[in-house]
Amino acid sequence: MSLTRTTCPYCGVGCGVLASADGTIQGDPDHPANFGRLCSKGAALGQTIDLDGRLLEPKIAGSNVSWDDALDLVAKKFSQAVAEHGPDSVAFYVSGQLLTEDYYVANKLMKGFIGSANIDTNSRLCMASSVAGHKRAFGSDTVPGTYADLEQADLIVLVGSNLAWCHPVLHQRIAAAKADRPEMRVINVDPRKTATSNLADIHLQIAPDGDVALFNGLLAHLADTQQMDMDYVTQHVNGFDAAVAAARHSDAADSGLSAADLAEFYALWSGTQKVVTVYSQGVNQSNSGTDKVNAILNCHLATGRIGKPGCGPFSVTGQPNAMGGREVGGLANMLANHLDLENPAHRDLVQSFWDAPVLCQTAGLKAIDLFEACASGQIKALWVMSTNPAVSLPDANAVADAIAKVPFVAVSDIMERTDTGDLADVLLPASGWGEKNGTVTNSERRISRQRAFMEAPEHARPDWQIICDVAAKMGWGAAFDYNGPEAIFAEYVALSQAAASFERDLDLSQFEGIDYEAMQPTQWPSNDHRFFADGGFFHSDRKAKMLPIAAPALTDHVGFRLNTGRNRDQWHTMTRTGKAPRLGAHLAEPYAQIHPQDAAELGVTNGDLLRLDNANGQTILRALISDQTARRQLFAPMHWTRQNSSRGWVNGLVPASTDPVSGQPALKAGYVAAQKFSAK
Ligand code: SF4
Repeated sequence: MSLTRTTCPYCGVGCGVLASADGTIQGDPDHPANFGRLCSKGAALGQTIDLDGRLLEPKIAGSNVSWDDALDLVAKKFSQAVAEHGPDSVAFYVSGQLLTEDYYVANKLMKGFIGSANIDTNSRLCMASSVAGHKRAFGSDTVPGTYADLEQADLIVLVGSNLAWCHPVLHQRIAAAKADRPEMRVINVDPRKTATSNLADIHLQIAPDGDVALFNGLLAHLADTQQMDMDYVTQHVNGFDAAVAAARHSDAADSGLSAADLAEFYALWSGTQKVVTVYSQGVNQSNSGTDKVNAILNCHLATGRIGKPGCGPFSVTGQPNAMGGREVGGLANMLANHLDLENPAHRDLVQSFWDAPVLCQTAGLKAIDLFEACASGQIKALWVMSTNPAVSLPDANAVADAIAKVPFVAVSDIMERTDTGDLADVLLPASGWGEKNGTVTNSERRISRQRAFMEAPEHARPDWQIICDVAAKMGWGAAFDYNGPEAIFAEYVALSQAAASFERDLDLSQFEGIDYEAMQPTQWPSNDHRFFADGGFFHSDRKAKMLPIAAPALTDHVGFRLNTGRNRDQWHTMTRTGKAPRLGAHLAEPYAQIHPQDAAELGVTNGDLLRLDNANGQTILRALISDQTARRQLFAPMHWTRQNSSRGWVNGLVPASTDPVSGQPALKAGYVAAQKFSAK
């Protein structure tokens, strides 16, 4: 059977895959993200593409119906809500699993035709703080790093990132580069010792949310020892004095690190020119996430360690198309093509390009606020696409209750039963990976094709088509009359060109007229472009901004700090990876990793059950005793749900607090009481 060249649907590394309908899966040796490598999840993709558990027919109130009936009802309920309560009475909640073309038309429908910006995405949980930090520092959401920089760096600092489990192929690339160049150094900054720490020369076991104190300490050290690049700062950076003054004001000891550890970190960082600082959810998923990002960016800007090979800050995204989604305005506070929702000229351009009857004028509801608006009764019609917020959002019990209160809920998904789908009035069967065509953008801005290599079930439709079908039923057929994802991609490229007069990063001109079917993985704006190499940024004066960042106040909490995250072999709520027996063999059941002394104090031995409680909920997890987790902290994976386990569902314990700038939930900041659980 011939193999089709496509892209892995899991993490933001965006590995190339060669696949066929008989389940054959190989790494694509020619894809520049992975050069043939795959991790355990990617290699097991062939075990996840059967029809077991698939949603195969549209359903209304649990009964199979025709597509026409289902689409009629969705269109009628959304139109009615808009007519009776206004455009802000409806909302879409979408997903980093969607392809760029799906995202584009969903945003076009909500922002340009319904006239609300109430469309947010589960990528809000993944990288919103990086987006906000980039915009504050660079004037645009530009990720300057590339994967090749990781191999060229002399020092890689991995902050809040368990790369070995969450971006395994990048971890493999760093390990290979380190084997080739033993002088390369890796520092892992993480409250928990992880598989990634094993690759590192130094593991800095930072206090939770100690990142600002650490990078402010580094900035103050760089200033005190005159190791800034003042020529670079003078020419290309604003805000230097205020940022350094704020850094000097904060106390590096609040990082939780010893003076010796801090001194070693400062010496390595300041003594190495080629430094890449990689950061992920430990930075982003925090009440101070955007400030953490800017504290990191400040150090790179103050030393000119940006815009050069082997050098720079690098946010790696969790999801396969978190980057593509933000390119087409997939967040409630963005417009397509990195255009600015707050800018009237940008709004005018998008409205006229789309020939849209209305355009949203203000930012919409971000994820947490969106579901609070469901609970309050503001939202009368909600459409959830390709994601499972009833278990994946913080305070998930309250989110499930909020969804249940919405008068009309549509869910499009590939699976028949999900915690969110069970709350829907209408279920719309979507095509799955391997059955649909489109593009995704990985963490290094590389656009790759996903290509169908198998037939979709008879009644499944690609997400872009479902969205366009609803738009047509709402009366906007002409604006959503695409004959396939290629036409949507061409419109996206044309919008980028229409916006060329604005000073922006997202230039897609190289994709004009491209052979969509034959498209090779390509970075925007071009493969050989290095952002900020000329010292030019995207603020109006072309300078970057350093921000004065105050370290978050330390507060006393009762109980254990609950750090949530991923297992090596599972993806999100396991609707796909849960099908692969060999993936389940790694860590087969929900657990809480706990320090040996804490376990001893609770009278818990390895394998006992732990009951975790707080005001948000309760769950029971198997105790895994390990000194990888620090005292008074717990780590628990977030994959288990009401559907796939009778226990172990942790997002119900995470409070719905967010970063004040980005709105990204602080998914690692819950506190719980823990005790030994004995079934009576
Ligand atoms: Fe897929 Fe990420 Fe693994 Fe690559 S590293 S195979 S993109 S899950």
